[in-house]
Amino acid sequence: MSPTATGPKLPPQTVEPRAPAPFAPYALHEPQGDAIPLVCDSPHSGTRYPLDFDHALAFAQLRSGEDTDVDVLWGALPTVGATLIAAEFPRAYIDPNREPADIDPELLSAPWPGPVAPSEKTRLGVGLIWRLAGHGEASPIYDRKLSPAEVQARIDHYYRPYHAVLAERIEQAYSRFGALWHLNLHSMPANAYERLKLAHEHPLADFVLGDRDGSTCAPEFVDMVAQALRSRGYRVAINDPFKGVAVIARIGRPAERRHSLQIEVHRGLYMDEATRARSAGFARLRADLDGAAADIARYIREQVK
Ligand SMILES: [Zn+2]
Repeated sequence: MSPTATGPKLPPQTVEPRAPAPFAPYALHEPQGDAIPLVCDSPHSGTRYPLDFDHALAFAQLRSGEDTDVDVLWGALPTVGATLIAAEFPRAYIDPNREPADIDPELLSAPWPGPVAPSEKTRLGVGLIWRLAGHGEASPIYDRKLSPAEVQARIDHYYRPYHAVLAERIEQAYSRFGALWHLNLHSMPANAYERLKLAHEHPLADFVLGDRDGSTCAPEFVDMVAQALRSRGYRVAINDPFKGVAVIARIGRPAERRHSLQIEVHRGLYMDEATRARSAGFARLRADLDGAAADIARYIREQVK
């Protein structure tokens, strides 16, 4: 990747197919300068695959679940006063954007000792522990059953610490400012509608903002973020097809001035989905998100001054 005229020179992401485990589950990027009550998280950009994953699926296929580089694309957020938390573990290993009970009993070698409440995501093979992954037709990740102890270790070493630091930072910001904005940052594959098995008449937008049909943040904030992206030439859809899942459902309580919004960016804007390598569009997108981050920070400073 070459440096850009507007952004910093960025090293390529480090991918570790067999990382000694357990390792620190997240990177915490502290606000630089005056902090604002904006806490952001990138739950799916982790590229360190724990040594104990023991998957059968080819590594290149397994990586299709990654929101590769989303933490780098939004890397300007700490420079405008936001906190940015990025998962280091891959979503195919355990998905932080699911409830802990969203478990597929078929994956396990013995009954799960806790509550089991499989959602539509588990039915699609992508619950708390993914059963399926792949670029086109999804294939089984494992040729074995997982022990409940193994799944519990993934929850204890990765899932819970990730949610703990996110909740801690959110409560710190809320208690200091009396208001809180949260951005849950993702990227989406070009074939998102097909993967979701949804009929559609229009192409996938460049960005999809999700507020769970208006329930997780003020409409004014959705409009503000949409405008920050549209003004830079992007097509923005709201809740179509991604509305947001477990993370924003937990955090967003707009009546208490806790606003949580999911942002999905089209992977075709910045990567080759087959190789996960950055494309020629990466630098422009990063520069535009630098600008969008500044706009969002300016709005939040106005709300709490
Ligand atoms: Zn994601």
